[in-house]
Amino acid sequence: MVDVLVIGAGPAGISAALYAKRAGASVTVLYNGESNLEKAHKIDNYYGFENGIDGKSLYQAGINQAKNLEIDVKQEEVFNIKKENEIFIIETDNYNYEAKAVIIATGNKKLRPNIKGVLDFEGKGISYCAICDGFFYRKKDVVVIGNGKFAIKEADDLKNIVNSVTILTNGEEIVDNISYTVDTRKIKEIHGENKVSSIEFEDGNKMQVDGAFIAIGEAGGTDFAKKLGVMLKGDSIDVDENMKTNIDGLYSCGNVNGGLLQVCKATYEGAKAGLAAVQYVKKNK
Ligand SMILES: Cc1cc2nc3c(=O)[nH]c(=O)nc-3n(C[C@H](O)[C@H](O)[C@H](O)COP(=O)(O)OP(=O)(O)OC[C@H]3O[C@@H](n4cnc5c(N)ncnc54)[C@H](O)[C@@H]3O)c2cc1C
Repeated sequence: MVDVLVIGAGPAGISAALYAKRAGASVTVLYNGESNLEKAHKIDNYYGFENGIDGKSLYQAGINQAKNLEIDVKQEEVFNIKKENEIFIIETDNYNYEAKAVIIATGNKKLRPNIKGVLDFEGKGISYCAICDGFFYRKKDVVVIGNGKFAIKEADDLKNIVNSVTILTNGEEIVDNISYTVDTRKIKEIHGENKVSSIEFEDGNKMQVDGAFIAIGEAGGTDFAKKLGVMLKGDSIDVDENMKTNIDGLYSCGNVNGGLLQVCKATYEGAKAGLAAVQYVKKNK
């Protein structure tokens, strides 16, 4: 078991890992290789680079810096976090890690697909969390919209509760061989009166459904957080001044917390989260 497990290797996650490691904790960082920072062509406003630096180089330099400090940095996608008997279990496609404290530093991702009707029916048949809302769809017919491992995990969480689960990939290829019914047609619109009743495809055909769970791309910080019962502030995680969530031992930092979406703020919050997580671990020895 590791003292502190950090999810994310962007400026927030790596800062958190550096501060936690230097404060004496054992630290593992898991990341899936996709950071906002990598998309930045040139960072011109971050301290210390007289000619600016491209985001990809800064991202890689952070990862190298952590490895040089003997932090265990691994490229593995996380799709769930659980807390059992005061221990966090972090599920990846490879392994179930155990940690005394967890820091979510997964950046921000677009949760909402650009499908007509999604926004109108949020909370009225459109959900973003199978574990949280699956119970409301007992013995009903639902779809999961997505095509990756995250979508499959959501379907797994629904299958024993609902009558049927179909995965709608909205024109994308499915990542794996799976046991669920998969429909790859492009979605045109979600229909209903007061709540979702059907999904219309671009070929003009409709599918009757009682609910749709959105699980596009990989699981993000707010997806993990919702499953754990973490308080959110809109689409961001709600933290105190030490980056602590409402769950003991669980911290978050960087873009996933909203606010100023910049490297300087991500590193500041990472440092705070790293130090606070170590204090928590030491106190609960
Ligand atoms: C085009 C563009 C230009 C920008 N220009 C600037 C600029 O000039 N100056 C500036 O200060 N900021 C700029 N930014 C913003 C800056 O990149 C972000 O504020 C910063 O990267 C946020 O850091 P973060 O660590 O919170 O998240 P990110 O850098 O996004 O890192 C998220 C990390 O989480 C990991 N992750 C996510 N989900 C999972 C999962 N399920 N399992 C495992 N790992 C996961 C990712 O692999 C990644 O390592 C720009 C952003 C963009 C997109």
